[in-house]
Amino acid sequence: MRVFSASLATETNTFGPMPTGLSSFKDRGYYRAGEHPDHITLFSGPLWAARLRGKALGWELFEGVVAGAQPSGITTRHAYETLRDELLADLRAAMPVDMVVLGLHGAMVADGYDDCEGDLLRRVREMIGPDVVLGAELDPHNHLTPEMVSNADLLISFKEYPHTDVLERGLELVDLCAATVAKKIRPVAAVVDCDMIVTMHTSRDPAKAFVQRIQSLEGKDGVLSISVSHGFAWGDVPEMGTKVLVYTDGDAPRANALARTLADELIGLREALDVRYPDIDAALDEALAFDGGPVVLADGADNPGGGAASDSTFLLRRMVERGITNAALGPLWDPIAVRIAFDAGEGARLSMRIGGKISPLSGDPIDLDCTVKALFHDMVMTGLANTPTALGDCALVEADGIEIVLITLRNQAMGTDLFTQLGCDLAAKKIIVVKSSQHFYASFSKVAKHVIYAGAPGAVTLDLSTLPYRKIRRPKWPIDA
Ligand SMILES: [Zn+2]
Repeated sequence: MRVFSASLATETNTFGPMPTGLSSFKDRGYYRAGEHPDHITLFSGPLWAARLRGKALGWELFEGVVAGAQPSGITTRHAYETLRDELLADLRAAMPVDMVVLGLHGAMVADGYDDCEGDLLRRVREMIGPDVVLGAELDPHNHLTPEMVSNADLLISFKEYPHTDVLERGLELVDLCAATVAKKIRPVAAVVDCDMIVTMHTSRDPAKAFVQRIQSLEGKDGVLSISVSHGFAWGDVPEMGTKVLVYTDGDAPRANALARTLADELIGLREALDVRYPDIDAALDEALAFDGGPVVLADGADNPGGGAASDSTFLLRRMVERGITNAALGPLWDPIAVRIAFDAGEGARLSMRIGGKISPLSGDPIDLDCTVKALFHDMVMTGLANTPTALGDCALVEADGIEIVLITLRNQAMGTDLFTQLGCDLAAKKIIVVKSSQHFYASFSKVAKHVIYAGAPGAVTLDLSTLPYRKIRRPKWPIDA
């Protein structure tokens, strides 16, 4: 069997302050055809799964471009069209093929393209024709448009948030696509829109139990695969929202009925799924009042994984103003401050202007008397599903009893080693502030005695009622009552 795999992925915050250009892909992960390294990356699940299965089953695997950018604002038309056309040229060179498996996100928006994945899948379908099997793995924070569903034979989203199941879902995708090529199954899709946008932390109930429930239904009674699109609230496109996608083996009425049932169950859970976000002072009060530590405080509004700059100072400023010590904060994206710290050297004491540079959503820069505690060239953090994640040159600086990790490659907190590699003793801290919405949880829950999801201002504001939507379909709970 001849198999083609490639990836093109980013999550677009259409309200984000910075465009996503080609350099955003090159910073995070850009591998030309045949150059993918010998480890899985966040959006190369299908390629990695095809390597594993292909080796055992004797497939001929053709590896096209793999490109993934840190989420940011709208992707430039040039970046999207350049990478899309590179992927399509790689596919054309590999033809004829029996199966195409792609690593996509599902919430990529480019200038002139509200639905990049729909555009890409349609062009792939046009090239390969109706009989070649086409599947893709998606991030659950996708928009799941009709064009995506109609052009693919199978779409499978990560089930877990934090996304720890990249490989598991990639293997499912590849196995089900191979069974479709062999005509052992005939996937039929049904989608139900829940007319809402919810956050689903699958690390705890009720989302955890819901994932277990849908997994218990898969592989039985002709149910091939069930994916929940959580949706991505910071993408202002018509299809934004929470949806359920069911594939059965040739049984459209069964797929429709099950998708409707599961969507109704999710709608029934929406109040329970809603996350409480205390404001900055309330979150700090709660952390200080907690008996023991460390307390991990998530600054989701400045999460670069949702398209924020990750250089906001709102939380840091209040911690300094309140005299809070024995704390750590990171990663804060400030390449200029890192450069200055490297020039000053380890042990140096100097006044530094930190953060607050990208837009008003980052707050004002903060001037601190800092000690440079540690420097690390080309530091790599352990990311989700053990994917190595480059942070560039990094510095640990300390000011007023707060240790701050400054980085040069924008990334959210995923592995605790982003602190510990610089000698920051997390276990001894009272408060650890992380720039992340939920992906931090997989690793930081191992050191945290308590976790608080704080509601600070930022480009990924948790107060959706403040976002200037123009394109989403209304009404949509909880933006509309
Ligand atoms: Zn996601």
